[in-house]
Amino acid sequence: MNNDSQGKRDRAQEIESVYKRFSRTSLLRLRIRRYIRSISWLFAISLAFLTKRALDLAISTILIFFLSPFLLMGWFLSGRSFNKTPRLGKWGVIFDELSFTPQNQLAERIIRFLHIARIPVLINILKGDMSVVGPLPASPGDLSLREKAVRRRYNVRPGLISLWWIRKRANIDYATELDVDMEYIQTHSALSDIGVCLRAIPAILYGQGVPTVPDQIEILGITINNLTMTEAIDTIVDWSASSGARQICFLNADCANIAYRNSTYLSVLNNASLCLADGVGLKLAGKLLGQDIAQNVNGTDMFPMLCKSLSERNVGLFLLGARAEVVEGVADWVHKNHPNLKLAGFHHGYFTPEEEPGIVEQIRDSGAGILLVAFGVPKQDLWIQNHLLELNVGVAMGVGGLFDFYSGRIPRAPLWMREIGMEWFFRFMQEPGRLWKRYFVGNTVFLSRVFREKLFGKK
Ligand code: UDP
Repeated sequence: MNNDSQGKRDRAQEIESVYKRFSRTSLLRLRIRRYIRSISWLFAISLAFLTKRALDLAISTILIFFLSPFLLMGWFLSGRSFNKTPRLGKWGVIFDELSFTPQNQLAERIIRFLHIARIPVLINILKGDMSVVGPLPASPGDLSLREKAVRRRYNVRPGLISLWWIRKRANIDYATELDVDMEYIQTHSALSDIGVCLRAIPAILYGQGVPTVPDQIEILGITINNLTMTEAIDTIVDWSASSGARQICFLNADCANIAYRNSTYLSVLNNASLCLADGVGLKLAGKLLGQDIAQNVNGTDMFPMLCKSLSERNVGLFLLGARAEVVEGVADWVHKNHPNLKLAGFHHGYFTPEEEPGIVEQIRDSGAGILLVAFGVPKQDLWIQNHLLELNVGVAMGVGGLFDFYSGRIPRAPLWMREIGMEWFFRFMQEPGRLWKRYFVGNTVFLSRVFREKLFGKK
């Protein structure tokens, strides 16, 4: 009886709470909440556009104000007019991009000296034809707007600074311009635009655009093959598919310091079929010596593109080095990301001298066209030189810590850090105890030696 009335009371309470939940006011509240939630999307999207436009307005107004003497000077030097170049704007609408056209040689020299030829673009930004950050503007005849991918590039205003331009200046242009533009369009926000503006500063300071570079350059007695990433991969894959054993080395500032003390390693570098420039230290050295480096060609960036090319050419890959679980991790990465690539074999890098002949035989019999060796510098490069002729591979190259990255043992620096040439700082933060000397002392010593070479010539 007691239980019965308790049950009834519970039910009544339940009904009351359900009723309360659906009473008119709570239903209204629910509806409003849902409505706000649905329009908050719209609100957020319009805010993003508005803030981007607000940012453009603020930046262009401030810059026009401060640069107005130069704007006026350029305008007079251009015969009191602007040069107008037709460009494709947002949604494919054509607008005139403004610049200066100097009227005589002296005017031209002044404008070039002051680097002010493009500042009238600020007026385009103020008017809303362009943005501070966006894909670079193209001429109306340049691109086929009939292609959907190309058309999507014009969902946003073209920009004075583009992500592609920064990557090219930082020598990271491994994707096409359209790919980078689409990446920007899909991910941009007012905040990321501010990030792009900040990254443009180092790009302006040490970047060089697309330089005409010498094929070979020499830094501290080391001959470097000045190739771009694509040229290097094409050469390496061609050699891997052919007979003849070739050694390839990557050279960064730390390697150059080791070669300075270790003449055997120096001669390995100079006798290698390719010695490729890796990292911001080399780039600065090239700049100091007036010999521009074509691109930052490092093994870690190269690896996925190399795997792709090797699988297209059906060339086998052998991985040698690092701890057993690390090299296994790289093998897993290869299987997962490049299932068509023939992984001819792998072996860890902590073997005894007695085990060595067996490993050499394993590589020789594996049918691999290319061998990557990761023992660290200079051990890997000396090992390759000593065994190259017994290995029966087209190419053997030393790749340092590459296996640690692709096995996931060490995370790689985010792209924005690589864009501003700060990957080394990210690495330093991971292992400060081991790496402070290499980066802070090593890079300073390297650059001061390069500086001495510039002042007093080769040692
Ligand atoms: N390593 C190896 N055998 C050795 C010494 C090192 O396989 O006798 C591996 C080590 O596990 C690491 C790789 O070599 O995965 C690169 O080492 P380190 O980071 O020192 O080289 P770096 O890239 O700095 O030249």
